[in-house]
Amino acid sequence: MPRITPHIDSKIPERKRIVNADIFVSEAAISEMLDHADRGASENAEVMGLLAGRMYRDENGVYAEADKAVTAKLHADEVSVRFDHSDMTPLFDALDDLDFEYVIVGWYHSHIGIGCFMSETDIRTHSSVFGGSGFAVVIDPIKEELKVFKGSENGPEEASMVVMESHTQMA
Ligand SMILES: [Zn+2]
Repeated sequence: MPRITPHIDSKIPERKRIVNADIFVSEAAISEMLDHADRGASENAEVMGLLAGRMYRDENGVYAEADKAVTAKLHADEVSVRFDHSDMTPLFDALDDLDFEYVIVGWYHSHIGIGCFMSETDIRTHSSVFGGSGFAVVIDPIKEELKVFKGSENGPEEASMVVMESHTQMA
């Protein structure tokens, strides 16, 4: 089973962030998500996946590093998407193939031409999986938009993101 974001702050290792942002996403993960969203859009379907990485904390709170985007078989149409619960094996296999210690720091999904926001369903999905923590990336390949939201006590709010170039990746 994948390791979901630790909800208890004390379990999150301390490390100072290099620049002020809520989440640091690798270039590789960004292109995986954008490619996936593009492929979906060509079939008029939303896509969805998980972000594997690490959570850290410093004096400004908790932040995340997302190194890889992983996905599995989906049931999708223009307005909704969910994992195929009859066969989650490919998702777990993809996670098992990751050659680094990770937690699931968040998830991503696409919207087809309606812009990037957290719908009521998205908010419910987010809080049932991540509680008040974790990140949600929303991509609209038609509008060429990408936004990231972070969980908070009052529901998801927009978060700041920095893209890490491969050679500057913090390992
Ligand atoms: Zn959505």
